[in-house]
Amino acid sequence: MKNKVSRGVKDAFLKIKQDINILKEELTDLKKDSTENKNTLKKRALVTGLTGQDGAYLAEFLLKKGYEVYGMHRRTSMEIFDRISPLRKKITLVDGDITDFASIVSILKEVQPEEIYNLAGQSFVPASWTQPISTAEINALGVMKILEAIRLINPKIKFYQASTSEMFGKVRENPQTEKTPFYPRSPYGVSKVFGYFITKNYRESYNLFACNGILFNHESPTRGKQFVTRKITHSVAKIKLGYQDFFEIGNLNSKRDWGYAGDYVEAMWAMLQRNKPDDYVIGTGKTHSVREFIEESFKVVGMHITWEGKGVEEVGKFEGKVVVKVSPKFYRPVEVEYLLANSSKAKKELKWTPKTSFKELVKMMVESDLNHLKKYGLMESDKSRLDI
Ligand code: NDP
Ligand code: GDP
Repeated sequence: MKNKVSRGVKDAFLKIKQDINILKEELTDLKKDSTENKNTLKKRALVTGLTGQDGAYLAEFLLKKGYEVYGMHRRTSMEIFDRISPLRKKITLVDGDITDFASIVSILKEVQPEEIYNLAGQSFVPASWTQPISTAEINALGVMKILEAIRLINPKIKFYQASTSEMFGKVRENPQTEKTPFYPRSPYGVSKVFGYFITKNYRESYNLFACNGILFNHESPTRGKQFVTRKITHSVAKIKLGYQDFFEIGNLNSKRDWGYAGDYVEAMWAMLQRNKPDDYVIGTGKTHSVREFIEESFKVVGMHITWEGKGVEEVGKFEGKVVVKVSPKFYRPVEVEYLLANSSKAKKELKWTPKTSFKELVKMMVESDLNHLKKYGLMESDKSRLDI
């Protein structure tokens, strides 16, 4: 009898032990499932300015991080998607314009993004003197319209604003940090100062997770051909292949802190992954003149040029032939002479550092232009615009 009872108790204990083990296994499975679910639940990002240089690099980066990427695209008479063509099937394009509040609202409702990267902008400084009002409508009010839409629709959305070193303009100190006062020198710079402060103001007024990336000039093989770096690398490639004899340039002596766009989009993302929103200067900490950029580009194709003359008479020569001419046509009403970033805060808090050196950047851009020209020849659009 006693034996029977103790066997019963033993069996009951064994049963409980088995049940506990089963429960433990189920708990482990549940934990595993929830982590897997977390990993497969994709974050959704909306990128404005997706068709631009940075938009394409950022979209590629976010896709690699496992994001669902939506890109705002404004209707144009010719649909040109060169920069995003390799990504077209992986991203969703939504029609809109950041000057049109209604389109922003309907996109936010439809897409329901967790993060918005506002890269849309009238980004070419000289065009801001010829089209100052539309520049302000896009670069200043456009930012406010997105922030308002976020505030009204979902204040939890994290927001990145593409601010710029052009805000430092006539620089108040060297190098420039997050604390350096602004002194913009173009309608572009002024419009971006509004974009910067309205982002900061919505953060402070409404507690929005809104960050400014104060990015110094960043380039790549897909940089617009009007910007000085790409104008130079494309012209050097054309000269090397015999498509043209020389090119014209403006201020040879202005200095920029040039980095690689592919490195810089990583900093944009890193800002939105922090616990609290803030503003960060992003640059390489090295500065070079337009003149140095030209010399380095010619070196890539084995041409060592020399300079002769002064001011508007100055020319760059190779083996006695003029390959570069200064033209006042490219001078600006007022100039930003010198930019140099101090990105210590980004290095410390975002663990961000640039990976590409000046020489690597120039080489990458010249070689890309050479290869493209060798493969496809001169494009129709380039033939008519030899003077840009
Ligand atoms: P790009 O000029 O290459 O791209 C700008 C993008 O904005 C394009 O996709 C353009 O569309 C889009 N866009 C312009 N206006 C509107 C509008 N009203 N509504 C919607 N989209 C619009 O510039 P980057 O990629 O080089 O620069 C991205 C952002 O970063 C810009 O805001 C620029 O001012 C800023 N910035 C850039 C720096 C740089 O060195 N690259 C440095 C610091 C800041 P579309 O193709 O139709 O023209
Ligand atoms: P920005 O810094 O945003 O204005 O970028 P850009 O690439 O347009 O210009 C960089 C610097 O190069 C400025 O100081 C320009 O004055 C100078 N620059 C000199 N010649 C040219 C030129 O032919 N085209 C452009 N875009 N800039 C030039």
